[in-house]
Amino acid sequence: MSIDFKDNPPKGLIWFHRDLRVNDHAGMNLVLESGGRWIALALSPRNPLSPAGCFERECLDDLEASLKLLEIPLLRLESTEVESFIRNVFHANPDLALLTSRRFNSRDQKLLDSCTSVLPKKQITLYDHGTLYLESDLPFSLDGLPATFSPFQRKIRAAKTQIVPPISGFSLPEISTNGIAPVELQDRSFRFRGGERNAILRLRDYFWESRAVMHYHETRNGLLARDDSSKLSPYLAQGCISARQVHAEILRLQDQIGPSKGAEALLYELEWRDYFKFLALRSGDRLFSAQGLRNEERESSPDQKQFERWCAGETGNDFIDANMRELKVSGWMSNRGRQNVASFLARIMKLPWLWGASWFEENLSDFDVETNQGNWMYLAGVGTDPRDRIFNPDLQAENYDGDGAYRKRWSS
Ligand SMILES: Cc1cc2nc3c(=O)[nH]c(=O)nc-3n(C[C@H](O)[C@H](O)[C@H](O)COP(=O)(O)OP(=O)(O)OC[C@H]3O[C@@H](n4cnc5c(N)ncnc54)[C@H](O)[C@@H]3O)c2cc1C
Repeated sequence: MSIDFKDNPPKGLIWFHRDLRVNDHAGMNLVLESGGRWIALALSPRNPLSPAGCFERECLDDLEASLKLLEIPLLRLESTEVESFIRNVFHANPDLALLTSRRFNSRDQKLLDSCTSVLPKKQITLYDHGTLYLESDLPFSLDGLPATFSPFQRKIRAAKTQIVPPISGFSLPEISTNGIAPVELQDRSFRFRGGERNAILRLRDYFWESRAVMHYHETRNGLLARDDSSKLSPYLAQGCISARQVHAEILRLQDQIGPSKGAEALLYELEWRDYFKFLALRSGDRLFSAQGLRNEERESSPDQKQFERWCAGETGNDFIDANMRELKVSGWMSNRGRQNVASFLARIMKLPWLWGASWFEENLSDFDVETNQGNWMYLAGVGTDPRDRIFNPDLQAENYDGDGAYRKRWSS
């Protein structure tokens, strides 16, 4: 797509970064308030042929369709070309504005810094809409972030810290399903359909059609059924829906139906997500280092062959292998599965945990840097949590797949 920057210069660029939606979007609000011509940009999926890449492409297609209604073109750039693109555009049009969301981890921050180092600070607007709570509202500074989740949550609750409500005032045109579910079990894999419209549909289905959210606290460890858990993570990871929008739906449910243990438990998980984002902000590059948040690295043996067996689901442990096959084929794995395969790689096979985290990054449709690295560090025993837990996959299989149905589904 060619954009005329010279004779018809736009007001600025809006860079969508893991916030691929138009509702509850602080940047879109600024664009609509300011009027004038804007250009949107986003990074292209890394591997368009994988289930994760296919999901990401659908998210971008949906965003593009929404932006088209507002006459905002969307440019898709490779991560290797974004820096030169931004530099060139601003070199030719020094007065443009750049809008984009705050980054929570040092890797994304470095890319943003390298793209914007030549721009005057006043032209860059960063908005903060990736978490339930704002950092500035927390009852402690980032340096005083509790070392584990429970005291983090206790302190927030004690201080009555408010979750930011979604921005109102803009809504997508009527969404219709055409009879196609946003998330469904096809053959043996969960198929996630990307985009903001599908995210809203999934929220509706889970909260209002099936009302499965009411039983979330009892079903969340299930391995087989679509509604065992919310299946919102791919949408939250790409930002097709915000955690604040999900929270608003929790409030609406409680308002209309009354207190719900399931909805409370879902909020608890969304707070975990916040915790890992704040932890990433505080931890900088340590999030990507072998020693993690500890002072010393744990012993590991970088055995490539063993790692390949883990990736391919050929370790010889049927529960681990079933989960790894599911990930490869579908881009999805349950939370129970993730805990087990991560612990197995880092603590039983004693392989470098960063290898496992990268494999997840390559394959998960819901890959989210802060949540992924945070969970991996915890399971590899290099996070801040003093508990040193190793999962026994045979016991776990007995408890969560007693009849073997899950292992049978993914037996080859
Ligand atoms: C080793 C490992 C790696 C992980 N990597 C990712 C990742 O890259 N992206 C990701 O979104 N989740 C990750 N998780 C967390 C969790 O497994 C998924 O969020 C969850 O399985 C997604 O399914 P759901 O949307 O049905 O979640 P639900 O159980 O319905 O939870 C609702 C939402 O809460 C958040 N959430 C749930 N569990 C966690 C958790 N343990 N930590 C932080 N937030 C959580 C997610 O945004 C999720 O969508 C990882 C967990 C482990 C153990």
